[in-house]
Amino acid sequence: MSLLKICTMKKTLFTLLFSILTLQLFAQDAFTPKQFLGYNIGEQFTRHHRVVDYFFALEKAFPGQIKVEKVGQTYEKRDLLLVYIGTPDNLKKLGEIKQKHLTQAPDEKLAIVWLSYNVHGNESSGTEAAMQTAYRLLTDKAGYLENTVVIMDPCLNPDGRDRYVNFYYQYGANPIDMQRFSASHNETWPGGRPNHYLFDLNRDWAWMTQIESAVRIQQYNQWLPHVHVDFHEQGINEPYYFPPAAEPYHEVITDWQREFQKEIGKNHAGYFDKAGWLYFSKEIFDLLYPSYGDTYPTYSGSIGMTYEQGGSGRAGLAVITQVGDTLRLADRVAHHVTTGLSTVETSARNAQKLVAEYQKFYKQKDFKYESYVLKGSSNQIEPLLVLLGKNNIQWQMISTSTQAIASKGFHFKTGAQEAFKLNIGDIIVSTQQEKGTLVSVLFEPRTKLSDSLTYDITAWSLPYAYGIDAYAVEQEIKATPFAATGQKQSDFFAVEGFTAYAVRWESMQTARFLNAVQQAGLKVYFHEKGFKLAGKTFAPGTLLLLVGENKGLDLHAMVNDYSKRYHVDITGLTTGMVDAGADFGSSSVKLVPNPTVGILAGDEFSSLNVGEIWHFFEQQLVKGAHLIFADDLNAALATLDVLFVPEGGYDIAGNEQLLSWIAAGGKLIVTGGAVDALVNQEGFGIKRKEGSALATNALSYANQERDQISDAIIGAIYPCIFDNSHPLAFGYNGYYTLRQGATAYQIEGNPVFKLEKNATAVNGFVGARVKLQQSEAAIAGAVSYGRGTVVYLIDNPLFRGFWESGKLMVVNAMYFVNE
Ligand SMILES: [Zn+2]
Repeated sequence: MSLLKICTMKKTLFTLLFSILTLQLFAQDAFTPKQFLGYNIGEQFTRHHRVVDYFFALEKAFPGQIKVEKVGQTYEKRDLLLVYIGTPDNLKKLGEIKQKHLTQAPDEKLAIVWLSYNVHGNESSGTEAAMQTAYRLLTDKAGYLENTVVIMDPCLNPDGRDRYVNFYYQYGANPIDMQRFSASHNETWPGGRPNHYLFDLNRDWAWMTQIESAVRIQQYNQWLPHVHVDFHEQGINEPYYFPPAAEPYHEVITDWQREFQKEIGKNHAGYFDKAGWLYFSKEIFDLLYPSYGDTYPTYSGSIGMTYEQGGSGRAGLAVITQVGDTLRLADRVAHHVTTGLSTVETSARNAQKLVAEYQKFYKQKDFKYESYVLKGSSNQIEPLLVLLGKNNIQWQMISTSTQAIASKGFHFKTGAQEAFKLNIGDIIVSTQQEKGTLVSVLFEPRTKLSDSLTYDITAWSLPYAYGIDAYAVEQEIKATPFAATGQKQSDFFAVEGFTAYAVRWESMQTARFLNAVQQAGLKVYFHEKGFKLAGKTFAPGTLLLLVGENKGLDLHAMVNDYSKRYHVDITGLTTGMVDAGADFGSSSVKLVPNPTVGILAGDEFSSLNVGEIWHFFEQQLVKGAHLIFADDLNAALATLDVLFVPEGGYDIAGNEQLLSWIAAGGKLIVTGGAVDALVNQEGFGIKRKEGSALATNALSYANQERDQISDAIIGAIYPCIFDNSHPLAFGYNGYYTLRQGATAYQIEGNPVFKLEKNATAVNGFVGARVKLQQSEAAIAGAVSYGRGTVVYLIDNPLFRGFWESGKLMVVNAMYFVNE
């Protein structure tokens, strides 16, 4: 800068500039990552508590330029952070920037960029790159911040990441062992990818079943940034992947969202070409399933993107790849830092366009359906309303008779356009709202695919997932907005004089009630056949709390307390002599057991499915269950009443002691592909259906992948028929299953849940060659084995913890089924 130019500047500007420069120079002198960590980033792995300390140290070293917030904790009590990086001016008015952005009156030259790192714990270069990227944004790349506010989540999955880092510290040899066969490159079960409950957090954005997702997305929805990046790693032999993403794209994705992906990709390519780094784009990683770190932000208005570096759990500090190259952590970090900075650079350069297009996104709500109408009891609908609340989706309720009028729409149950009546209590979810695009994607009856080769399931429609009667209506229906969930307090009151209380069995909420009163010491019975009394019909599975069977306890007070806490549908009865059906002393009225439950875990099992069952017990039903490694099973059997066998390759029939345990009255619940271990085994009554899925044409090499999907079902939704007198079906009025594979089974006798004859999916991709064999395929059922029972849950009903209507089946299997 020439002296002459400086002299012409206004003095105040000069002083300001000078003070920023000296401040930065001073800060850089006072703080380098190596000074703080003791090594250069990329030379070692950094454990999470040091990462946390590092960011707080940055905040101290660069006052005013970075703000660090603890926003929550993981299941294992590690801190979840959010880091804001911007000009001192912008950081001072963060609240105001957020407010203006959300009220569509934004600063027109300021893009909000959100960078998410290390959602998969063992993709460990992410968090290291976050530390380096933050440092660069505070020093040599601070210029980008004139037009951006960067929000950084340095680690989405601290529990998984520390699991990996601890593993590597234990087995990482000194000097570094770079051979792929060495222990340091082969993680032990369950590996660091998932979180504490072994969930894949990059499938959990929309469902928020895990605490890390719930905490993060609550923050995310308060910002709804213009650009979001989810940093990942893939296999060690892969080059770098960045956008544009692969087909299929969901049809709601706008032209602008597609375009800007290309713009960013081009900018990255410039840096990678210059450095001689390999990369690819437009392949593999598509934009469809709504619960990813790229799609969820996209459906919320962002440019949502996935970046993938070669690395992950096999890579360690350095590893020799297939072609004989050495892949080092430092390289992996450098690539992620480059794309992170390039993202901020491109966003800064296009800030004005990003802001304008984002506003357009929120104004354009042009969807086929403008309203979704939900009908059902409050206990059935409540879980869905909770989910909508977490997603910042507004809903309304028909609350007056003037709103209760005739309407017409697509009926999810029948798949036809039908006239129906809006009733008081019906819930309306409109696509004409801020989160309208997300509403449209989550509720749409049919996912439109631009290409069937996708990375994930192709159907998730919420009315099917929650088992709720619903209509999709093309017009907007106006009703009364509700800020909070509208759970009505029951006016029921238990008093002396009632001899029994009947509780309608209908949802997970009732299951939680049952578990809670059992833990509190109450004996609970269930009516296996159903009955009529006092002018009411009570369905099979109705719970009975009998005064005479709970002597010595203040049953009435407890019923008042628990029925209000769990909002159950409860009726007080003054006699056990029913008007129709079996009286309460009959053998049809049975004690609900309070079983001791085990879940098999370890190498032989899918960590995801183990985690789903484990999480279900601890966090959803809130009942303890023993997690048991297969080697310890025989020592545990005498203690157990129920044993879950998760998906995987465990040889059930090969364990004599386990077979004896079942024969003596034990209950085995087998989920998903684990049923394969019992196919054609003597006494287990399950076999594969005769298959018709055989490739007939010789395949060209180029078309192989496309042809293989003709044999696949990629997460498709099918209606089920079921035997509603069977305990496995207690509480169901209808059921849609999420088929996660094409293999069709038959269960001896009559399966309780099965597909219809010539069944067709209501939503999702089904390969041409496997359509036929789905006809009457078994979905769930039970067989007797000696005095015991084996329950088959063929389509894993706990898949990712989001198929709400499947959960009751698991509870039914545990409490009621007794073949
Ligand atoms: Zn990943």
